[in-house]
Amino acid sequence: MDSQEFRRWSHQAADWSADYLESLPGRPVRAQVEPGQIFRQIPDAPPEAGEPMERIFADLDRVIMPGMTHWQHPRFFAYFPANASPPSVIAEQVTAAIAAQCMLWQTSPAATELETRMLDWLRGMIGLPEAFSGVIQDSASTSTLAALLTARERALGHRGNSEGLFGQTPLRVYASAQVHSSVDKAVRIAGFGDRNLVRIPTAGPLFGMDVGALRQAVEADIAAGLKPAAIVAALGGTSIGACDDIAALAEIARAHDIFLHVDAAWAGSAMICPEHRVLMRGAELADSFVFNPHKWLFTNFDCSAHFVRDPKALTDTLGIRPPFLRTLGAEGFVDYNEWSVPLGRRFRALKLWFVIRSYGVEALRSMIRDHIAWSGELAEAIGREPDFAIVTRPILSLFTFRYAPAGTSEEERDRLNAGLVEAVNADGRIYLTQTTHEGRFVIRFQAGATGTSREDVLATLAVVRELAPRAREAASRAA
Ligand SMILES: *Cc1c(COP(=O)(O)O)cnc(C)c1O
Repeated sequence: MDSQEFRRWSHQAADWSADYLESLPGRPVRAQVEPGQIFRQIPDAPPEAGEPMERIFADLDRVIMPGMTHWQHPRFFAYFPANASPPSVIAEQVTAAIAAQCMLWQTSPAATELETRMLDWLRGMIGLPEAFSGVIQDSASTSTLAALLTARERALGHRGNSEGLFGQTPLRVYASAQVHSSVDKAVRIAGFGDRNLVRIPTAGPLFGMDVGALRQAVEADIAAGLKPAAIVAALGGTSIGACDDIAALAEIARAHDIFLHVDAAWAGSAMICPEHRVLMRGAELADSFVFNPHKWLFTNFDCSAHFVRDPKALTDTLGIRPPFLRTLGAEGFVDYNEWSVPLGRRFRALKLWFVIRSYGVEALRSMIRDHIAWSGELAEAIGREPDFAIVTRPILSLFTFRYAPAGTSEEERDRLNAGLVEAVNADGRIYLTQTTHEGRFVIRFQAGATGTSREDVLATLAVVRELAPRAREAASRAA
């Protein structure tokens, strides 16, 4: 493709993108296709001869788009948001054109130095102290893995890396059942083993770890000759938004030289609003803290902000500098690949720069405040409905509820709510997902998309009120 053609099709892509975003309110939020429907429309072998862009673009609309779930839809209330915003998309186009590998300082000094600055901005925006240094990881999962690897090496005096894990004292990791599954995965990958992930029961209105139970578990492990290595705190757990008392965990961590990692993947963005920082009290005492601007800070996936108190502990764990990666004749720079599991790194700081500068921090705060306020309003409205019950109250913009018509058992309600979620998502006007809470099936709601309005959020009430009785009739017909 020559430069003229590239220009033409880039303009076409820009128009397509703007049309797409404008078209979102008229599309069903969740893809309305059967498994295999898209696969069958794609030839089983690649073309030998190149095809015209016209045809490829036409197939984008014809074949691909019907199979997309629209994460930027203003009525996307499922999971957590994976936000994009127009300035972020524009920065991603530029990033793709530059296509730099930002693994070393010298492979793009601007990428490294902008990353350092952007992470300093973010750190200040969420109120973490200057003692923290940041790096952009591809995901919170990777950040948590990097944190747990660092914790492992700290507990083993770096013998894990040099000698392997065979024959070492078993290391223990403590977390509640409310932490994300990426913690379970990191425990496996980092070699702790499932049986050394100690689940601490939760208590209180924010479903945080029972601190007394944590202290007892740590002390019992030490008495049994095991080595406590890490505590993983939830700041906004994925299921219901659970928040640990980080200050209390930090005290136990400090008393026993345990590494403290805070997973704030979703909720961290809300910490740009000072009124919500009570939830992160004590985070300044953590060793590691992750949040995803790609969730709720209007920045395209992927962009996970990982802050560490002691970057040397991280680079001593992950940094390997073979001769071909040395930068000769230069000093005083950071090579961010030594902070991450992968070597190759995209230029992710650019989209943060575009987003933060084009909105300004106050506008970002006000979007998040709106999401939280509107979710709160919706929760109140649902709570007033005779046939519905709020199960967990809003933590930031996340709450759970249940269709609970009089005269139905809890078991029937589990089935009714599963039917309701499916009916809502087949209907397509809004998109909700489920979780279980205290053994019961509950419906999750969160708001956080860039284009979401108060009207979009409140529309949820009308949709569930309309579809719930129908889901109930369908269930009784089936029974
Ligand atoms: C989404 C989420 C994760 C995983 O984030 P990725 O960036 O997709 O790895 C981890 N923890 C919490 C609390 C989350 O909400």
